[in-house]
Amino acid sequence: MKIALITGANKGIGFETTKQLLQKGYQVFLGSRNVTKGQKAVDELKEEGFKQVALVPLDVTHENSVAEAYKYIQQKTGRLDVLINNAGIGGEAQHLTEVSIENFKRVYETNVYGVIRVTTAFLDLLQQSEAPRIVNVSSNMGSLTLQSDPSYHAYDYKTMVAYASSKSALNMFTIHLAYVLKASNFKVNAVCPGYTSTDFTGNNGGSVEEAASRIVKYVVIDQDEPSGKFFSEELQTETGAIAW
Ligand code: NAP
Repeated sequence: MKIALITGANKGIGFETTKQLLQKGYQVFLGSRNVTKGQKAVDELKEEGFKQVALVPLDVTHENSVAEAYKYIQQKTGRLDVLINNAGIGGEAQHLTEVSIENFKRVYETNVYGVIRVTTAFLDLLQQSEAPRIVNVSSNMGSLTLQSDPSYHAYDYKTMVAYASSKSALNMFTIHLAYVLKASNFKVNAVCPGYTSTDFTGNNGGSVEEAASRIVKYVVIDQDEPSGKFFSEELQTETGAIAW
């Protein structure tokens, strides 16, 4: 049985991704920074008949929390096949002229440093897997190419510079990580789930089911499939990949 860890999985896209991996027979560690919310999510899944799910208290912004989560999973399974870095925050919507450094720091702490912290901590457990997969949940908004293309449908949407640039930084981390691991069986990709109805968007957008399936697609990829790419099914390119 393959073993997955999903950060920020108590709700939204992370919760639905947990469910879809359970449906595929994975064992899932459901990461949640809030234990009460996380336990509620686990209970809901268990009530639906999924047995192979366990709560892991995990705040990606705290070194100790990541270390405790690592210790827990290391003792339970000693191996991880899948890491989905899903936890993310939007920060405040601000035009560039009004943006605060504090807002940038908060967003980067979760969306960039949080991913780096969790990934580097769990790398040795992933190395115990025959076919490790890392999906970094990114956003089209982090694409430098699209953000600078006047024909991009969201070209004029420029109110979330901290969030957008955090996803660009996450993308660069993804490229470097994939490069460092290219001689191994790892697949490391950045995936945009698409504009999705969650708390994050004030419940506007497409379904969480579709968003999660876009992530799961790059969890279950075979060995001959790409690594070090940026995928966005929403934009309907020929290969699913989009420009960084
Ligand atoms: P969401 O419903 O707001 O869920 C975000 C999750 O991240 C929650 O479980 C939240 O926990 C968790 N989280 C936040 N900070 C955390 C931290 N420091 N440590 C651990 N967990 C933390 O948002 P979503 O729409 O599902 O977003 C999931 C991912 O998709 C994000 O990376 C987002 O950038 C990306 N994305 C979303 C969309 C969209 O349209 N929704 C589009 C593109 C990309 P709490 O419940 O405790 O707050």
